[in-house]
Amino acid sequence: MLASLHQDPATGHRSLRATAPLHEGQVLCVFSAEDVLDHPTRFTLQIDEGKHILLHPEALWYTNHSCSPNIFFDTETMEIVCLRDVAAGEELAFFYPSTEWRMAEPFDCHCGNPGCLHRISGASVLPNEVLQRYRLTAYVQRKWAERAGRAAAGGDAALAPEAGGNSGT
Ligand SMILES: [Zn+2]
Repeated sequence: MLASLHQDPATGHRSLRATAPLHEGQVLCVFSAEDVLDHPTRFTLQIDEGKHILLHPEALWYTNHSCSPNIFFDTETMEIVCLRDVAAGEELAFFYPSTEWRMAEPFDCHCGNPGCLHRISGASVLPNEVLQRYRLTAYVQRKWAERAGRAAAGGDAALAPEAGGNSGT
């Protein structure tokens, strides 16, 4: 295992920590769906409309949020991928809105990173310039494209730039 569950003896706060140095692009582990729910919980990832997978293995339930994430849950390959190099012992955290369009339990983030977004409630409320900084699941990208399409078709259509030919990377 390249990661293990860590529990703070004082606070009981649990987190996932790297047990070895990891490099950008490395697959930390694969995950699977212990169950598929029709609603989000604290321990699910959204993979499609009305489809929320309960993570397996359960140690992944304690992967915390960071506004400067070092891992990404790829819900197409079902792999956790390192977004940058990680030192042994470092906490592994992902950007919750990268998988959640609307979150079950919004919260105030205190991650302390320079770009901290403070209120975390899902990708649906984040502006384009924030979303484009992050790697997002196919589902969240699709929802984002739908939102952009609606905005372009709406009252501010005259202000919306043409999207043709520029689908990003
Ligand atoms: Zn934060």
